[in-house]
Amino acid sequence: MEPPQIYVERTLAIIKPDAIESLTDIEEIIKRSGFTIVQKRRAHLTPEQTSDFYAEHYGKMFFPSLVAYMSSGPIVAMVLARENAVEYWRELIGPPNCFRARETHPDSIRALYGTDDQRNAVHGSDHDGAEREIRFMFPESIVEPIPTGQAAKDYLAKLVNPTLLKGLTSLCKQKPEEPITWLADWLIANNPNKPCVNDDIHVTES
Ligand code: ADP
Ligand code: MG
Repeated sequence: MEPPQIYVERTLAIIKPDAIESLTDIEEIIKRSGFTIVQKRRAHLTPEQTSDFYAEHYGKMFFPSLVAYMSSGPIVAMVLARENAVEYWRELIGPPNCFRARETHPDSIRALYGTDDQRNAVHGSDHDGAEREIRFMFPESIVEPIPTGQAAKDYLAKLVNPTLLKGLTSLCKQKPEEPITWLADWLIANNPNKPCVNDDIHVTES
């Protein structure tokens, strides 16, 4: 019988500006709760970066004050890993409104360290946002998610198959002696994603 597989998941946590002084205490809770802090970064986001990060809330009443709050001071972003990281971290931080959190989840991080209905000490990704948010805060992250199943099919269908199909069609017409090398050269010459030189830009000599 195969041993049960433990799926280690990653989520993004942010210590928001109102809780930055409690960073050490919150990190202690994170470690005690079985998370590994995989990456950690201190940052001070501009209002533009904050708007991009919270794009899903664009147009809501609270959006402008959320952007002002999140760009008002330094934050610490962390990638947390453990089994069911997304769900477990959200459970640990509690509901977004701290006043409500103090009533319904008095031991949650937002109940303990949050300030009000907006300044709620910490952020936690949801399932749909985790990978995007991790890449937003850690763009150089080496651990890229490997698409599987439908995601892999969609990726190949969109970005690889159309070009590959054209290359294979040309290959069959040409029937070169070294088909693999020929195809490799063809792909390099016909790569739709290669950097292009803009001929319209000329440096004028004065
Ligand atoms: P969560 O952070 O738990 O995912 P949301 O995605 O709904 O919560 O909202 C993002 C952030 O926007 C919240 O953490 C909070 O800081 C702020 N926010 C959400 N709803 C409100 C609201 N009704 N009034 C003021 N700020 C809010
Ligand atoms: Mg959210």
